[in-house]
Amino acid sequence: MATLAGHLVDFPAPGTLRHRPDTVLRIDAAGRIEAVEPHDGPAPRRLILPAFLDLHTHWPQWRVRGRAVIPLLRWLDQVIYPEERRFRNPSEARRVARAFLQEALRLGITTVVSYATIHARATEVAFEEAEALGLRFVSGKMMMDAFAPPGLEESTDASLAESEDLARRWHGKHGRLFYAFSPRFALTVTPDLLQEVVRLARRYDAYIQTHMAESPDEIQTLRERTGATSYAAYYHRASLLGPRTLLGHCIHLSEQDAELLRRTESRVVHNPSANLFLHSGRFPVELLDRVGLDFGLGSDVGAGPSLSPFEVMRDAFYLNPLSPARLFYHATLGAARMLGWDRDLGTLEPGKWADLVVLEWPPDLHDEPVETVLSVLIFTGGHQWVREVYRGGERLV
Ligand SMILES: [Zn+2]
Repeated sequence: MATLAGHLVDFPAPGTLRHRPDTVLRIDAAGRIEAVEPHDGPAPRRLILPAFLDLHTHWPQWRVRGRAVIPLLRWLDQVIYPEERRFRNPSEARRVARAFLQEALRLGITTVVSYATIHARATEVAFEEAEALGLRFVSGKMMMDAFAPPGLEESTDASLAESEDLARRWHGKHGRLFYAFSPRFALTVTPDLLQEVVRLARRYDAYIQTHMAESPDEIQTLRERTGATSYAAYYHRASLLGPRTLLGHCIHLSEQDAELLRRTESRVVHNPSANLFLHSGRFPVELLDRVGLDFGLGSDVGAGPSLSPFEVMRDAFYLNPLSPARLFYHATLGAARMLGWDRDLGTLEPGKWADLVVLEWPPDLHDEPVETVLSVLIFTGGHQWVREVYRGGERLV
């Protein structure tokens, strides 16, 4: 049985910081937290936090992050689609997926939710890399059966058949690899495909991930093409909304849209760095709070230039003045809730998996209260203080 001593810090509710100084955390043989007890005397001055979850990212975009072209639809055409075409080659996919996932782990992320490309083999290669590295990984083949750019076209039938085959082989593997059916966004999939995705996701009890209401140009195109009154209404008509559906962005929402998301218990993912980078708009936290919608954070690499959860939290603050405790909540327990994993992850409590990040307490801040330390970590690149990362009690960094 392993033990770790230090200052335990976690975030059991939005904006709530729990600090247990000089504490020992005991991990059982299965990798779960067995007990949290007072340390006999002063413990090492280091911070032990729940590991981070990144709820929305694109490993195939790792090499092309930071390419400033806006707005969204132009960036996709000029930067992203040419890069995604390269993953026809599985060895190229393996190289990039490995580099990406290693970096995520190094930054304290033990759960990655990522899109792949339309290529089934590339999608699988990333699962293999996550399996080998020890991460929790939720992913799926990108689906684009309409208006796809040259070189990334696929038929509806092939898209569904390949996705189903991957779900059958990977969903639930080792209890840490899961499948997410991944229609890119409303503009690049047919209504028929969406309908089948809903059916398949139910059959395998898998996730669905897609993008929603990210940028005005995209929403305008959707309106013209489909006559839909709103993005949320369009997805609702396809029965896509629900507690197993992760919706990336959700920036341009009406009160009715937000109500619809709450009623259907849909899962909202906020990607602040990408929103700032593409100038997509401001995530409406006050609307979500009013309606009672929770959310988790995602890096959305490559529109987000960094995988660092600290930089993502910083950017969330630049869009909305949330407290450090609340930002950490959305990067840990709040994110776990979006996956339905809050009984297993997100805080440091007996019975949960020992997914942990150990940070050195920055020497300059030795006399500062932990609230101040967390704030400084968010705004000055806290990832440089990450010393150890555990997934299920196993030290991976
Ligand atoms: Zn995205």
